[in-house]
Amino acid sequence: MMSSKQLPILVLKEGTQETKNKDAQKNNINAAKLVAQIVKTSLGPRGMDKMLVSPIGDVTITNDGATILKEIDVEHPAAKMMVEISKATDNEVGDGTTSTVVLAGALLEKAEQLIDKNVHSAVIVEGFKKSAQESIKILRDSAAIKIDPRDKAWLYKIAQTSMASKMVSLNSKDLAEVVVNAVLNVAEKVGETLKVDTDNIKTEKKAGGSIQDTRLIQGIVLDKEVVHAGMPKHIEEARIALVNAPLEIEKTEFDAKINVSSPDQMQKFLDEENKILKSMVDKISSTGATVVLCSKGIDEMAQHYLSKAGILAVRRIKESDMTKLSKATNATMITNIDEITSNDLGYAKLVEEHKVETDKWVFIEGCENPKSVSILVRGGSERVVDEAERSIHDAIMSIKDVIEYPYVIVGGGAAEALASQKIREWTDSLSGRAQLAAEAFADGLETIPLALAENAGMDPIDTQVRLRTKISAVISNGMAKYGVDVLNNKVADLAAKDIYEPLGVKEQVINAATEAACMILRIDNVIAASKTKDTATPSGTGGPYGGAGADMDL
Ligand code: ADP
Ligand code: MG
Repeated sequence: MMSSKQLPILVLKEGTQETKNKDAQKNNINAAKLVAQIVKTSLGPRGMDKMLVSPIGDVTITNDGATILKEIDVEHPAAKMMVEISKATDNEVGDGTTSTVVLAGALLEKAEQLIDKNVHSAVIVEGFKKSAQESIKILRDSAAIKIDPRDKAWLYKIAQTSMASKMVSLNSKDLAEVVVNAVLNVAEKVGETLKVDTDNIKTEKKAGGSIQDTRLIQGIVLDKEVVHAGMPKHIEEARIALVNAPLEIEKTEFDAKINVSSPDQMQKFLDEENKILKSMVDKISSTGATVVLCSKGIDEMAQHYLSKAGILAVRRIKESDMTKLSKATNATMITNIDEITSNDLGYAKLVEEHKVETDKWVFIEGCENPKSVSILVRGGSERVVDEAERSIHDAIMSIKDVIEYPYVIVGGGAAEALASQKIREWTDSLSGRAQLAAEAFADGLETIPLALAENAGMDPIDTQVRLRTKISAVISNGMAKYGVDVLNNKVADLAAKDIYEPLGVKEQVINAATEAACMILRIDNVIAASKTKDTATPSGTGGPYGGAGADMDL
């Protein structure tokens, strides 16, 4: 469908719907607020989980904002923008996806109140942008604590806070250790700072056992078994050939060239085939390889020859795993077996097949390049391991964030509450309506601690008063430590409870939420091309969201 933006001015196709000014704004704000409401109740340790059922009946249970929004199918263009920011936050910093959407929703709600008072949206946008900058400045200057990125005690706190809001919170202590060790293992010094490539951390999950059986493997786990029963299952000082070619004879050749007319000929042909396979195996084993990891199939005859040569082989390994294996073991990926030499082989201290529940998996440990690890995620059921894996992902990302940008702030809404209060003081320096926008921004920030409180069943007004009083008492020295202790249902010093988050995540939350809110506020005209006939909603209503159609390309 042609984007209506390209159409000449005022010449709109028949059926095109146009919503203008306040109507358009209200409509967009409402849609975005609805999305924020969906995830708001899942914020924080006392947030609830959502059960999402896909059209084909797959069930996901999660409280991860990005996952919730990914699974639900929103139609409204402004709602889609909210989904986009949660995705962007997921990609940028990995954690804080729910907070981003909740904050954006809150900012829009406050903006709506100003629009009702005839404050122009351009003024609000301007005020929000300045306030966001100021908030980040406040956090950096008076709330952030610089840490040593290798200090495990700090990293444990961060990982535990990230997992405190998840289904896995009871095991967050054990998991924090796994996560922190995994990330430190792959951290590399680049100039003065540490960098983490999370691609070097592979997570494999298997339902069964319990979450605390989750463990870190110094190497790579393949969810594949050794291909032939006669092969060794345990090889030390392994010399590894990485083969990116089939160890079989391509069936097409078979079809094309053979014209068998007698049993004799058939036998000859098979002998010939065996010879080719044997020569492939001989070629590989002549290099001194003791392990063959192959991305394609391995013919039964080839398996037989490999096992006779005492080689452990695994077939049909995923491309992405082949790349990781190459990096970890220093093996060169071979596509032409005739060219393999001993220089192409990689090394691992141990290659071994283990039973994981009913499956057999191959573990490649003690690799040449130790900057490659796996986390084997365990848990009672498929859904538990899935959510555990998502929580571990968030924690890994949090640790990466704080290692690369080693500043932390107190969680539980403490940082937001302090910033909110300081923004209110700062508004005095602004004039007129900009002041109103900045105040609205301060209110928006406060929504985070209040949402945490509400989800814990605490009274929001009561919490707000207590929080403001506590913070006023310490605001002169700028300490951000009073937040919502949701586990004990009170406003408390959360630094004392070791609830810390990466500053990088908070900055992203504020930036992304402000950006989305402003983007939505700047739209004063929605022009939606008419839908194609069979999917059309009754004209004039434009579907469940009113004026704006779903195909609008914003
Ligand atoms: P997000 O997707 O935004 O990370 P979460 O559901 O993970 O959302 O909740 C994160 C929020 O929970 C953060 O504001 C964090 O500070 C807060 N939080 C984590 N642990 C605690 C705790 N023990 N007490 C209060 N708040 C906490
Ligand atoms: Mg989180």
